[in-house]
Amino acid sequence: MIVAMQETASEEQIQQVVEHLIRMGFSVHRTTGERQTVLAAVGARVDFDTRNLEVLSGVEHVHRISAPYKLAGRSFRPQGTLISFPNGVTIGGDQVVVMAGPCSVESREQLFTAAEKVSKAGARALRGGAFKPRTSPYSFQGLGLEALKLLREAGDRFGMLVMSGGNYDVILCERGIRTFETYTRNTLDISAIPIIHKLSHLPMASDPSHGTGLRDKVPPMARASVAAGADVLLIEVHPDPDKALSDGAQSLYPDHFAQLMDELRMIAPAVGRKL
Ligand code: MN
Repeated sequence: MIVAMQETASEEQIQQVVEHLIRMGFSVHRTTGERQTVLAAVGARVDFDTRNLEVLSGVEHVHRISAPYKLAGRSFRPQGTLISFPNGVTIGGDQVVVMAGPCSVESREQLFTAAEKVSKAGARALRGGAFKPRTSPYSFQGLGLEALKLLREAGDRFGMLVMSGGNYDVILCERGIRTFETYTRNTLDISAIPIIHKLSHLPMASDPSHGTGLRDKVPPMARASVAAGADVLLIEVHPDPDKALSDGAQSLYPDHFAQLMDELRMIAPAVGRKL
């Protein structure tokens, strides 16, 4: 449920609504934009009468959401999410950010060689798989609660954050879907980019490497992804793809990657972005 406060709502009025929602058993996530404050109430109370909120002072309107992605929905943050990093890179704005590197970290030499080459070509972030977890914590149907306990334990022991809740800085990624067409590893669904941009305020990445699985298909799909509005590109680059321990067939040679970056620098301005 989304509660949009009036532009003139006072902090006291906002707090009264927050307290009311918490008393009703909801957890409340607040976002304050330039003009107004929006509260997302998450909970299982399907019987809740929204008129109880509409009559509270300072409330503009209450919007019941049936979609299971309340926090990621565009209505929660109409202006879109910007994710800023200490090195000055911001994802979700007018800049297209390219993340590139090998599928898996194989050795110090392999990773450092790839990092040097992709950064010289203009990539702003390095990728490199350390583990191979499922993409979404919600779709895992294996160990259930036991797996969550193990994750928590491992996170605490090694000082790492653990997944599912509390992090607003999420980037969604299109990396191919299953279709009847098996010529490519997956079918990269470029239409997902404008669809997700409409449904969600979160930045959208495109991964033409896993989306196609074939090296020569990666540059055309990368070019199309930028043209379609992707905020981020994930591209696998390996210094010696023929010897890669995983996903070599879809990894670009460093000079192919540099050539692709030159092409993307021409496409991005044509659609009002920069690289
Ligand atoms: Mn891979």
